Amino acid sequence: MSTLSVLAVASEAYPLVKTGGLGDVVGALPAALAHEGIRTTTMLPGYAAVLDALRDATIVHSYDYLQGAPAHVLAGRAGGLDVLVLDAPHLYARSGNPYVAADGTDWPDNAQRFAALGAAAADVARGVAAGCTPDIVHAHDWQAAMAIALLHYGEGRRPGTVMTVHNLAFQGKFAPSLLAELGLPARAFAADGVEYYGDIGYLKAGLALADRITTVSPTYAAEIRAVEHGMGLDGLLRHRRGIVSGILNGIDTAIWNPTRDPHLAATYDNRRLARRPANRVALQHRMKLHADADALLIGVVSRLTWQKGMDLLVESLPALLAHGAQLALLGSGEFGIEEALTAAAQEHPGRVAVEIGYDEPLAHQVQGGVDVLMVPSRFEPCGLTQLCALRYGAVPLVARVGGLADTIVDANEMALASGAGTGLVCEAGSAGALQAAVERAVALRRDATAWRQVQLRGMKTDVTWARPARHYAALFRTLAAERAG
Ligand code: ADP
Repeated sequence: MSTLSVLAVASEAYPLVKTGGLGDVVGALPAALAHEGIRTTTMLPGYAAVLDALRDATIVHSYDYLQGAPAHVLAGRAGGLDVLVLDAPHLYARSGNPYVAADGTDWPDNAQRFAALGAAAADVARGVAAGCTPDIVHAHDWQAAMAIALLHYGEGRRPGTVMTVHNLAFQGKFAPSLLAELGLPARAFAADGVEYYGDIGYLKAGLALADRITTVSPTYAAEIRAVEHGMGLDGLLRHRRGIVSGILNGIDTAIWNPTRDPHLAATYDNRRLARRPANRVALQHRMKLHADADALLIGVVSRLTWQKGMDLLVESLPALLAHGAQLALLGSGEFGIEEALTAAAQEHPGRVAVEIGYDEPLAHQVQGGVDVLMVPSRFEPCGLTQLCALRYGAVPLVARVGGLADTIVDANEMALASGAGTGLVCEAGSAGALQAAVERAVALRRDATAWRQVQLRGMKTDVTWARPARHYAALFRTLAAERAG
């Protein structure tokens, strides 16, 4: 098996910088691909957190001028990855989130910030950086997509290009006057190029011009071809359906490992499940919930947004409490939802606990302690928290949509009778369906043996990166062979 070289381009990579699942995937995929004989170099913006972590750095390319000022491409190691870092302080040296300022609004120069990332990645792909001549450029989400457009319209070396969509809702749409700044020819501003409803669409450009498109679950790959989930791009995705595929995400099972998770009060595995309830007690204590052993303890670790169905959860709270459930929620997001949840916690002390913020140790404690991990999304490209839940013996209760539908098997009566079922699955977008699923969970948990079987089947489900990495490797090899031929 010959070694293939991939340049991954992304705006985040765990553990260096992460705002969601994208960071997890970009951080974990290289190690899994290495087992498939694929060498990944990951190109990232030079945020302070990335530059601070960078070791053995050398300058491999320099710009006198890149979107407003000089910049360098640095090669080295960071966060366990081989990285190329675009050191451009005028674009990336600022505190806070990679995408938004402290007040929650997009950085006003996001078009330039991620045009620069795409331009540097395209230059590296053409071979400007000694030691890096990738066979494949793998662009993650809109922030990386301009690399594909620049390679398409530019001259010189042209590796195979793969555009991976982690969430079609984030598209990178900017004014058409930007075209000259992007270094694209006038002909690129066309329906089969970067033009998007009169503007410039970064993700649209990547989807229109990539050799292959992947998204993060087979069901989402099909859903985005229809108006309901297509976010304005369904026509293009129908047109290109022959090159679109869905590859499920895995999780990093070294980080998400209940056998030796330093954040848990008690570690456990499927042979020592009796140790798990100690985490339930610790979580109830930590979140100031009543030490009630009978209540169905429901956990949520999520962005608090409409996409994630968090308004449906708010609406359902009275019904959940009527079923005797408790809620342990960790997340942050839309102000109105945060406010409603905080108010509910004040109204129901000991039964509803809400922690607004981002807290990785607590995310582990929720997974290790709750009975049910709820993911009531309206759409969900893949979803990672339900995979963590499987591994931690928290029974996922999810909406039947996108990657949630692909990863959780509903433990209905027939499934249970034939020894199947790893969670509870309900119709998406319906508070009534969510409440009915909670009622089913309460009933199922009363049957301790059946509940334990559901937990154990979840814990035995393969949620590693091994299988997805084989799919990516096969796709990369086929594409590389096509381009070589
Ligand atoms: P998203 O759409 O936000 O990317 P995913 O389920 O794909 O959703 O990934 C979310 C990732 O972020 C998971 O690893 C989850 O544990 C983590 N996460 C989400 N919210 C929080 C939070 N408030 N604190 C800690 N981790 C969080």
